[in-house]
Amino acid sequence: MKSDIRICAAWEDEHDRPVYTLGETCPACDGPAVNSAPAPFDPADPYGEYRRRARRRAEE
Ligand SMILES: [Zn+2]
Repeated sequence: MKSDIRICAAWEDEHDRPVYTLGETCPACDGPAVNSAPAPFDPADPYGEYRRRARRRAEE
């Protein structure tokens, strides 16, 4: 079953955490929202922490 939940396409740049919406635009930054399935943004995603850590390192 496919999810109708969308996620801000630019949340990694615009927000501290994923912004989910049922609409087609992000309610927080008004940017485009993309379908979240398959969900690489699952909070339980074991790769999420790695990705955040890698990003943080890249910004330092
Ligand atoms: Zn946004």
